[in-house]
Amino acid sequence: MSDCVFCGIASHEIPATVVYEDDLVIAFKDLEPEAPVHVLVIPKEHYGSIIDDVPDDVLVAMRHAVVYVAHETGIDETGFRVITNTGDDAGQTVHHFHMHVLGGRDLGAGLLPE
Ligand code: 5GP
Ligand code: ZN
Repeated sequence: MSDCVFCGIASHEIPATVVYEDDLVIAFKDLEPEAPVHVLVIPKEHYGSIIDDVPDDVLVAMRHAVVYVAHETGIDETGFRVITNTGDDAGQTVHHFHMHVLGGRDLGAGLLPE
């Protein structure tokens, strides 16, 4: 997907602060962080969202990256939230499957903003 910003980050054509990378996934800091830790974990291959036919090994690699980021930043101790916005009602703006990893502050008890 030549016009996809996250494909550009995955191929290192678009700069990003990369915090983890392996053959299948890459994790980088969100450009507009909403918490002290706000990292995006994406597959290197383009999938539009979690609804797409994402292979099991990619999903396992994404979970591994989430845990790596949590360990490295200490939010495994303090708590964190993983969010995957999917489609219009969820406000998905980048249509390349991604997981937000958010932590480093009290995120509140509710799942959704007031
Ligand atoms: P969504 O709303 O689709 O779940 O989240 C997209 C996220 O991607 C947003 O939090 C936004 O700040 C982030 N984002 C969009 N473009 C870029 C970019 O070029 N670089 C980085 N690092 N983050 C981006
Ligand atoms: Zn893409």
